[in-house]
Amino acid sequence: MTTTKVVLRFPPDLTNQPITYKLIKEYDLMVNILRGNITPMEAGMLVLELTGTKKQLDGGMEYLARLGVETQRLSKDVKWLDDRCTHCTACTSLCPTYALSVKRDTMVVSFEEAKCIACEMCVTVCPYSAMEVYF
Ligand code: SF4
Ligand code: SF4
Repeated sequence: MTTTKVVLRFPPDLTNQPITYKLIKEYDLMVNILRGNITPMEAGMLVLELTGTKKQLDGGMEYLARLGVETQRLSKDVKWLDDRCTHCTACTSLCPTYALSVKRDTMVVSFEEAKCIACEMCVTVCPYSAMEVYF
């Protein structure tokens, strides 16, 4: 079994398609939706974590390509260097998947690696170089 994170971008005419249902039912993939932004008649974006065999993953990716969905596999690794983090929260409002978040009562920032899609927004904005990307 392999797990991979994929960003899906699709045009307005595909926003009503049961894409995740088909990935599960027809390609036998385990699908974890990390982030979704789908509005009928507007372009959509989904960040999925897909788990399956290579054959299942290849089949699912081929299905998406046939459908006209643009896909981007994420292979970078992002690390939070908590000893450098000052919990300034500059990154939390920019993080598209809420991998970086702040607890409002304590104002403590935390990082959930499983939600990260390696977009590198936090790396750019962090004034203390507390976020690093590994290839
Ligand atoms: S790279 Fe940073 S901003 Fe992007 S998803 Fe990961 S933690 Fe969030
Ligand atoms: S921007 Fe950097 S220092 Fe500020 S909370 Fe995020 S990781 Fe920590």
